Amino acid sequence: MGLLMSNLDALVAYHNAYQAYCDVKSELDSTEASVKKKRLEAAITATKGQINTIQLRIDASMARIGELRGSMAEIEYKYDLEVSEFELIKNDSQVTADEVTEARKSMEKLLSSIRNLYRTLIGVIEDVEKAKNEIAALTKKGRNLTKERSDCVAICEKEREEAKARLAAAKAAAENLQKELPETLVRKYVGVVKRHTPPIVSLTLNNQCGGCNMSLPTTLISRLNLGNDIVTCENCGRIIIPQQLG
Ligand SMILES: [Zn+2]
Repeated sequence: MGLLMSNLDALVAYHNAYQAYCDVKSELDSTEASVKKKRLEAAITATKGQINTIQLRIDASMARIGELRGSMAEIEYKYDLEVSEFELIKNDSQVTADEVTEARKSMEKLLSSIRNLYRTLIGVIEDVEKAKNEIAALTKKGRNLTKERSDCVAICEKEREEAKARLAAAKAAAENLQKELPETLVRKYVGVVKRHTPPIVSLTLNNQCGGCNMSLPTTLISRLNLGNDIVTCENCGRIIIPQQLG
């Protein structure tokens, strides 16, 4: 039983060293500067999104302005034609007063359309100006956030530099202990570690899995107590170790 029992010991030793390495890494990821950097990055992304949305609004407004200008040119042309025609008919003795009134009404209608289009056009242009100001403000905000972010990056890099030796030592310790383990066991551990925290649990006093509290079958418990096997919980998949090892 000696060899496989020592595999279990080696696995626990590796696990502890690997967790210590992970702790150093997560310590670096959770410093004030690191957390602030993540928050700033989210804010920068959000600001870019806001700018894009406003830019789309401006693009749509610019297209609308083009359409309005087109319509206005058309109506202005019609109006000019009617004005010339009116100048011709107003002194013509063969044209009735009703016809003159009719022509004047038609001209006034066109003039009113031009005024309405003009008002709409001014409204759209004002919207574009407003949107451009919003973009300018957001761009300024984005620049400030980016500046703050680069300050944080500098601090994070300094922190990483300071922790470099400690991180490397923790990594080397875990790697050395990993070399002591059979390949299959490393693969099994890696598989469990992806799914569960903690990946290795002790058997409880009631013969349950220390991770999910599932009662373990007696065959599994005897295998565990013999100590010549790596036992995993049938329910959650965690690696289970006898109590004296935990
Ligand atoms: Zn379990």
